Amino acid sequence: MTDTTLSPTTTPVTSVTAYAALAAKAPLERTTVPRRPVGEHDVLIEIKYAGICHSDIHQARDEWGPGTYPMVPGHEIAGVVTQVGSGVTKHTVGDRVGVGCFVDSCRECEQCEAGLEQFCQNGTATYNDHGRDGEPTYGGYSTHVVVDEGYALRIPEGIALDEAAPLLCAGITLYSPLAYWQAGPGKKVAIVGMGGLGHMGVKIAHAMGAEVTVLSQSLRKQDDGLRLGADHFYATSDPQTFEELAGTFDLIVSTVSAPLDFAAYLGLLKPRGVLANVGAPAEPIELALFSLILGNKTLAGSQIGGIAETQEMLDFCASHGIGAEIETIRGEQINEAYERVLASDVRYRFVIDTATL
Ligand SMILES: [Zn+2]
Ligand SMILES: [Zn+2]
Repeated sequence: MTDTTLSPTTTPVTSVTAYAALAAKAPLERTTVPRRPVGEHDVLIEIKYAGICHSDIHQARDEWGPGTYPMVPGHEIAGVVTQVGSGVTKHTVGDRVGVGCFVDSCRECEQCEAGLEQFCQNGTATYNDHGRDGEPTYGGYSTHVVVDEGYALRIPEGIALDEAAPLLCAGITLYSPLAYWQAGPGKKVAIVGMGGLGHMGVKIAHAMGAEVTVLSQSLRKQDDGLRLGADHFYATSDPQTFEELAGTFDLIVSTVSAPLDFAAYLGLLKPRGVLANVGAPAEPIELALFSLILGNKTLAGSQIGGIAETQEMLDFCASHGIGAEIETIRGEQINEAYERVLASDVRYRFVIDTATL
């Protein structure tokens, strides 16, 4: 794959417009970054929209350990295929496609063989990583990206590209635990936190047929929660909530990255219930294990999803008319949008219109 001179469709490395943090802690600014030639199994995607994920901010600001700069964040990518390599069979020019959190994996380990590429020890993240060619990867805050065809997902016609972009991280992050722990008819599911992740959880769990409860800090977003498909909405700032809902849920998915009283949330589970975390508080937690022993409860985590499951999620969302609730911004608004994400001042996901970069 690295010997691209063998491929008749190869084009030279091109420079594309992007927004990048040029150094740790630096604000993002307009620049250009190289994209590799379109290899035999690659597709060139004209990016139309890129979602802003909270993890973009952590990485751009070097909060997750040594970042690679310049850094172009963005792993919620939706666009259109404009060129394909000679060996590409999965996509054709004009296809609507998405790219999520990773753009490659080893393809031969036990996890890759099982379609669980997100667990591959030798995967390549969409940005802030290096590909198999040793070159840095640059994310979706950009006009174009070149990826291997196997890591580009088909976006069905039923979803607008702007509302589809956040599905590539936020959508699969919630779909995967809800599917794995079988949210569905007869199941009582709680979603903790009504933000970029949580609002997707409400929509997806509702579409799966579960009875959905939102557990949010206050009742401020109650109208939205009920509109998006929640059956109930409770404020976690009210201690009465934890008494009233004790022993209620089969599954709780927490999207919160602030410290939580895990014992209190485990108390809301039925026996054999599961508390799955997709948000991670920065500090380690302390937990009396009787919170798990009494009632055989499970405290779990969940990390995006594999390629096949991400496609399944996109197809599911299209068939249920589900997209993200978005606020579209221009390139020059990215830094301001970061501040607003940190202040929880977005309903519910910022999406960059890459035509404005
Ligand atoms: Zn993300
Ligand atoms: Zn692998």
